[in-house]
Amino acid sequence: MEDNRIYLSLSQESGYEQEYIDRALKSNWITSGGPNVDEFEDELQNYFNNGNFVAASNSGTSAIHLALILLGVKNRDEVICQSMTFAASVNPILYQNAIPIFVDSEIDTWNICPENLESAIKDRIEKGKKPKAIIAVHLYGMPYKVDEIHSIADKYEIPIIEDSAEALGSSYKGKKCGSFGTFGVLSFNGNKIITTSSGGALITKSKEIKEKAIFYATQSKDKAVHYQHSEIGYNYRMSNICAGIGLGQMKILEKNISLRQENHMFYKNIFKEVKNVKLFDNIRDDFFSNYWLNAILLETEEVKERLRLAFEKVNIESRPLWKPMHLQPIFRGYPYYGNKISEELFKKGLCLPSGSNLTITDKSRIKEVIIDFFK
Ligand SMILES: *Cc1c(COP(=O)(O)O)cnc(C)c1O
Repeated sequence: MEDNRIYLSLSQESGYEQEYIDRALKSNWITSGGPNVDEFEDELQNYFNNGNFVAASNSGTSAIHLALILLGVKNRDEVICQSMTFAASVNPILYQNAIPIFVDSEIDTWNICPENLESAIKDRIEKGKKPKAIIAVHLYGMPYKVDEIHSIADKYEIPIIEDSAEALGSSYKGKKCGSFGTFGVLSFNGNKIITTSSGGALITKSKEIKEKAIFYATQSKDKAVHYQHSEIGYNYRMSNICAGIGLGQMKILEKNISLRQENHMFYKNIFKEVKNVKLFDNIRDDFFSNYWLNAILLETEEVKERLRLAFEKVNIESRPLWKPMHLQPIFRGYPYYGNKISEELFKKGLCLPSGSNLTITDKSRIKEVIIDFFK
């Protein structure tokens, strides 16, 4: 009999979700918005505290779209985006008919490179258009170089949308990821560190902006007795049922973060014995990754593919890193600033199973593949 499949990252229930879902059903709040949504937002606000206001949405993607709308990004505007990321970071730029400008990663954090970011800004300004926003990502939970990136953004007065979809629980110099940008974005998709089945959140700096986000997310209804609309509206609000799942999941957020730290230690112990493999790791003590996913860099693309197949053979999922956006067929032709670091990472990098639900048996199966492969 074949062993059960080990996935990269799956969610698991806390046991408290049902209570909140039942509460929504029994009170007949079976719609978007409602008491669970309000309470979920309050809990997230408490988690981030100090001047952060949270609007819950039906996905991380819609939260990014709302951030672009709130920043006034329109037709033909340019928006800088980290190339190495999931497509959801970029797609909302196109929803606004704006133009993505891709920037390469640096080798330490695999996130947006400060030097290339500044060259890109200077060049775009020289060509006649100052970028309207920068989308920076904490890839796999690893904080980007916050001080460097934000000081460049401040110098040119460009707002940052901080894509923290993978980084709930990560921090930089003791401050939580998601709270640095003009906007922060979270995702509660099924593979993230906690889930609402599908959902997201926009972190803002004022109550007014939070309310404006909710206004757009609920079809931009003007204040009138009848349905009246002066602006384009969206159906982007989180459902009260999903928020119930989120409330149950909040109870295991800290636990999930520590389980992912344990997974990281597990890989650290294995790979310290293995030559020519680099485990993706905090670059300094003041970087704290939630280690949503663990990833390694192999010597060559060929070794990476052989290792992937060795895992696959025993029903263990592993995957290449995000394929950079400037290499994607849909985004070909948009400007790119970089030195091919993200290309290299994509060729040689592999993500390893990192779910909060990995069992001791799962870990010994994973370890066996690695030890066998490198012996
Ligand atoms: C998951 C993810 C998103 C999008 O979140 P959804 O909730 O799936 O829409 C955006 N950016 C990154 C980097 C992600 O990993």
